[in-house]
Amino acid sequence: MPELPEVEVTRRSFAEAIAGARISTVILGKPLRWPLGCDPSALVGQRVLGLRRRGKYLLADTSDGLLLLHLGMSGSLRFGHGLAPAGAHDHFDLVTDQGTLRLHDPRRFGAVVYAHGEQDPVAIRLLGALGMEPLSDAFSLPAFALGLKQRRTPIKQLLLAGRLVVGVGNIYACEVLFLAGIRPSVTASRIGAERVRKLHAAIRSVLTRAVELGGSTLRNFSNAQGMAGHFQTSANVYGRDGQPCHACGTAIRVFRQGQRSSYFCPRCQRP
Ligand SMILES: [Zn+2]
Repeated sequence: MPELPEVEVTRRSFAEAIAGARISTVILGKPLRWPLGCDPSALVGQRVLGLRRRGKYLLADTSDGLLLLHLGMSGSLRFGHGLAPAGAHDHFDLVTDQGTLRLHDPRRFGAVVYAHGEQDPVAIRLLGALGMEPLSDAFSLPAFALGLKQRRTPIKQLLLAGRLVVGVGNIYACEVLFLAGIRPSVTASRIGAERVRKLHAAIRSVLTRAVELGGSTLRNFSNAQGMAGHFQTSANVYGRDGQPCHACGTAIRVFRQGQRSSYFCPRCQRP
């Protein structure tokens, strides 16, 4: 599943190239997770002013509104001139005078939704509950510490929920909790100041590094140039159950937590 770093890598890969582009045609394929929310002809003639990201949504600001793009489980975006005719898994083409933006999504959990602006109820429904952006200044240590103090859920599930901070998906949650020495099952409000500081720093550094490396190596992910990322090769605990911890040699363990696999080192990560 594309995570925040892949989405950010995707954004950077065509943000400059699409800025200022005038939309000439919109071609829809099979239905995606949510409907577009407008007649495709309403987009024709509008310009794409820029490309932002909020959580795992890409926001393409247009002259009159906003296109919200989500990659779902298996989506990828390409932008360029001379793309091949849309194939069986290409479900959205935004044809512009600067190139075509194409959503390729075999499983169709992705979506492209049009809203009249960020205050449109459609946009609020998708973006309104999102937590702090982990790579922004808003994600400060005091704000994060306060958020943890107010919540009695297990830290791993709190991170995955994305309501305090976005972008910490399952792989990253396992990795940052290892770096901070925290068991995934620990109640958020009970984590002491020193480990909160380490966790905050780990979220920043792991996600920053993942963006620099091009995102995770997830089977279906490729950025707009079609290059696979390679973050997952440097995992400390994720997917390593039974293998020795890089720090202490103890066998990494795994357990199910809220339908997801939580990997941890029983020695390095305190309960
Ligand atoms: Zn260890």
